[in-house]
Amino acid sequence: MGRSSKDKRDIYYRLAKEEGWRARSAFKLLQLDEEFGLFKGVKRAVDLCAAPGSWSQVLSRKLRGKEEKSEEVKIVAVDLQAMAPLPGVTQIQGDITKISTALEIIRHFEGQPADLVVCDGAPDVTGLHDVDEYIQAQLLLAALNITTHVLKPGGTFVAKIFRGKDVTLLYSQLKIFFSSVTCAKPRSSRNSSIEAFVMCQNYSPPVGYVPNMSNPLLDHSYGNNTVMLPMFLMFQLHIILSCYTLLDASKEYKYTPPTQPPIRPPYQQACQLRKNNLLAKEDSPSLPLDEALSNMDI
Ligand code: SAM
Repeated sequence: MGRSSKDKRDIYYRLAKEEGWRARSAFKLLQLDEEFGLFKGVKRAVDLCAAPGSWSQVLSRKLRGKEEKSEEVKIVAVDLQAMAPLPGVTQIQGDITKISTALEIIRHFEGQPADLVVCDGAPDVTGLHDVDEYIQAQLLLAALNITTHVLKPGGTFVAKIFRGKDVTLLYSQLKIFFSSVTCAKPRSSRNSSIEAFVMCQNYSPPVGYVPNMSNPLLDHSYGNNTVMLPMFLMFQLHIILSCYTLLDASKEYKYTPPTQPPIRPPYQQACQLRKNNLLAKEDSPSLPLDEALSNMDI
């Protein structure tokens, strides 16, 4: 067994198996509920980016509880991928960036708004931190778009974020729509991961705001938040510039040497000795350094 697959089998992985959760992430939502009382009074909930379904399982078990309550509770789960059925959960196989998905959720709730929207969405991670953070932020904004269509005033939105260097800007953008925005890291979320969760409470959109599926943070035709448009564009531009070099196709490419050559690190000599198999070994007497260096193939 490879080391990485062994590492994944931590306490929450084993507990999830024991308790029948589809993924260890169930504990993140359970722990967020312990801390913030998320499920209090909730009858209609939406789980965005739900597959394989452990958050939907939590919603189903916690909201439906006893049989007599289960009739009034409605839960909708959305994901690009299909997932195995769950009691009391309606599945929509769809994209959270599409208006058709928002309309389908509304249809299921028969025009009634949701009390809670949760989103544990994550793109396929590339390993390039700026790119991953940017895509995650875009997914969060897509989730926020859907949320503005379906959430009741005063409702709660919980979403996964990556805590990168531009995260404070995201918080201020969310604060346009919610009176309270808190960042939480449940103990089941690995310390090594940059993920955290934004807890957005008391949905209160700006006066006159009309939900639409273009990015709400780019729509500056309402309220006094026009300042957010240039801030958001700068945020996007900053990330794009840090990911790509802009090339002017009309000009011929001309090589420019680096402004600073590579440094000579202090361990360079040790690297060269090791490359030439001249580093001292425990059971063989080491050569004096001068002699070793003179033998080297540099
Ligand atoms: N909360 C889930 C659970 O507990 O089982 C795990 C969610 S998993 C980390 C992330 C999910 O986001 C994937 O299943 C992926 O298909 C979904 N996803 C990513 N982009 C999406 C999009 N644009 N629309 C819908 N789902 C999306």
